[in-house]
Amino acid sequence: MTSHSTEFSDAIVVGGGAAGLCLAHRLTETRPNTLTLIEPPDGPLRPAARTWCYWNAGDDGLEEAVSASWSVLRVHGADGRPVIVEPAAFTYRMVRSGDFERLVHDRLTRSDGGRVLRATAESVRSVRGGAEVRCTLPGGWSLTLRARRVFDSRPLPALPPARTRLVQHFRGWFVRTDTGRFDPAIADLMDFRVPQPAHGLAFGYVLPLAPDRALVEYTEFSRNTLTIEEYESALDHYCRDILGLRTFTVERTEQGAIPMTDAHFPRRAGTAVFRIGTAGGATRPATGYTFAAAQRQSRAIAAALRDGRGTVPAPHGRRALAMDAILLRALDSGRIDGPDFFTNLFRRVPAERLLRFLDGGTSLREEWGIGLRTPVRPMLRTAAELPFLPRRSRPVARTGESHR
Ligand SMILES: Cc1cc2nc3c(=O)[nH]c(=O)nc-3n(C[C@H](O)[C@H](O)[C@H](O)COP(=O)(O)OP(=O)(O)OC[C@H]3O[C@@H](n4cnc5c(N)ncnc54)[C@H](O)[C@@H]3O)c2cc1C
Repeated sequence: MTSHSTEFSDAIVVGGGAAGLCLAHRLTETRPNTLTLIEPPDGPLRPAARTWCYWNAGDDGLEEAVSASWSVLRVHGADGRPVIVEPAAFTYRMVRSGDFERLVHDRLTRSDGGRVLRATAESVRSVRGGAEVRCTLPGGWSLTLRARRVFDSRPLPALPPARTRLVQHFRGWFVRTDTGRFDPAIADLMDFRVPQPAHGLAFGYVLPLAPDRALVEYTEFSRNTLTIEEYESALDHYCRDILGLRTFTVERTEQGAIPMTDAHFPRRAGTAVFRIGTAGGATRPATGYTFAAAQRQSRAIAAALRDGRGTVPAPHGRRALAMDAILLRALDSGRIDGPDFFTNLFRRVPAERLLRFLDGGTSLREEWGIGLRTPVRPMLRTAAELPFLPRRSRPVARTGESHR
């Protein structure tokens, strides 16, 4: 069925995942006159429910959607020795996608001029005076929306050209044990006691939700994802042989693949069309964390719109991207030992400074200090060769997908 109508909004956000929800949330605070969030109906374009973790100091307006938080973090080196840090004033927080979606949808529907439109965006393009989104509604009708600005978070069909292309890929189990086996005060960010792959690195990740409940994940930074059977076998080994869980049930699973690359992600896709989220380069290359950057960028976009500026600031600074490009290449080429690299960072750099560094909030001087606590020779050698390496295209399967 095709029937056409055209509607107008001040701003349109395409895609209600992490970045789209963060931006819609901030825009309801600054109130453009009309704001439409477009999210496809249930089906293949809608990712399964996920958890997003990030660190933050103080209140950020997401408290209602935060389902757990930790002020103590732990990393286990490959030698089994733990590093325990308290990065006050930062806490590590977990937001479930369903809770965040409810919070933002409620805000939108209660605000004047805000709405959530269930539709599939077919095309987004600049037109005179703004931009246009052509959508298909669930009944098959076509709808054209126009706005002064469109923020598009739809995944890219392929990664832009890059020198290094790693993937952070993982599978997690929400486990329940018969007795209390977890300490809900401590989150295990990286546990390198797991067997290491021939290329890249692997670690366990444990977010305890109660003494008898936790999200336990097996993660690799490497070139290729694994089969479900391979993740399950690695998780089973981690739970039984390393965490020592004897009897437990798996209540839910979570799986994903996040690009770790030095590709350039253009933010502008037209005069009035901006890409946000992973598609707009919000994923921090060296860590895969995206949620905190999406939040920071959303606040900056909302402030720019409120002040009548049409700019969208970059999600990450140039220095951070340059350092990440060196680290990714050093990891990919096997010049540095990944588990030692990350464990030593937590051992040698004050945790609050390290987290601030990952948020792009450190000074040049602090960054030199952090650089000196890494294996200087292989990092310098890698830095010296990077400018001579071209970024190349390679069509790849869509990343960021989660399967349950
Ligand atoms: C399982 C999983 C766990 C993760 N955990 C963390 C974490 O703990 N911390 C962290 O910082 N990062 C995490 N990430 C990485 C990153 O934060 C997420 O991938 C995040 O969802 C990226 O946000 P996004 O908005 O760019 O993409 P998405 O969240 O994937 O959003 C894209 C949206 O576009 C919509 N869409 C697609 N096509 C169309 C269309 N044609 N029309 C309209 N809408 C469309 C989709 O429905 C979707 O809602 C995780 C990733 C995965 C996969």
